[in-house]
Amino acid sequence: MKATYRDFLNENPKCGKDLVTNTNAQAVFDLLSRDRNIIAMIEASDAGKPAISPVVLIIEVFCTRHPSESFNLANEQRRTVVGCMIKTILSRFGYEPVRPATRTQKELSRTIGAKYFVSGSCYTYEPLAPASMRIVRTVSVEPAIFSLVRELQCPYCKSTNAVDLQDEYSSFPETRSEEARHLEIDFYRDCAACDERFRVSGYIIECPPGEIEREEIKLLPVKG
Ligand SMILES: [Zn+2]
Repeated sequence: MKATYRDFLNENPKCGKDLVTNTNAQAVFDLLSRDRNIIAMIEASDAGKPAISPVVLIIEVFCTRHPSESFNLANEQRRTVVGCMIKTILSRFGYEPVRPATRTQKELSRTIGAKYFVSGSCYTYEPLAPASMRIVRTVSVEPAIFSLVRELQCPYCKSTNAVDLQDEYSSFPETRSEEARHLEIDFYRDCAACDERFRVSGYIIECPPGEIEREEIKLLPVKG
């Protein structure tokens, strides 16, 4: 089983009793617990980077867009709380903070562009640790028909989202002639990493129909 928010509270009593009813803290924990974010944190750990590196923008974007006096990342204690959440989440996968303690904390790369976090803990896989979960990597066959999956960057947290246009394909307004087909793309999606809503907008020109000649697809932030 993945760690629950209650597990986190029980394992980190020093983080404070006020977190029991703090909905923003709960939401941050849920974001960190998403499969893709756990996998990203484990990959960063295996590469010797702080586990928070690939998710730090996701957390900062969430907290900026859902401002809360009771969960403000400008407060160092709150940043420590996020670190404790990661520790609890990764422990279920057999990952423990790098020892000795003097080597646990590492600075975050500046290129990430984090505003509040400057460093994070590094983790290492401990084969003897009591793990209850594991990541399974698989190899699969590429689909034969032309794929409408596009790897597009979230305008908020910069995570790559695999957007399958096929899901919406039938609803695209089209202009059609014998030689060409012009599809207008416009729909909304939520980022798989940070949960923020973005607009998928652009066009595909097929010429002849069935063969993509030109396309432009963008993810745009949704105000609000
Ligand atoms: Zn995002």
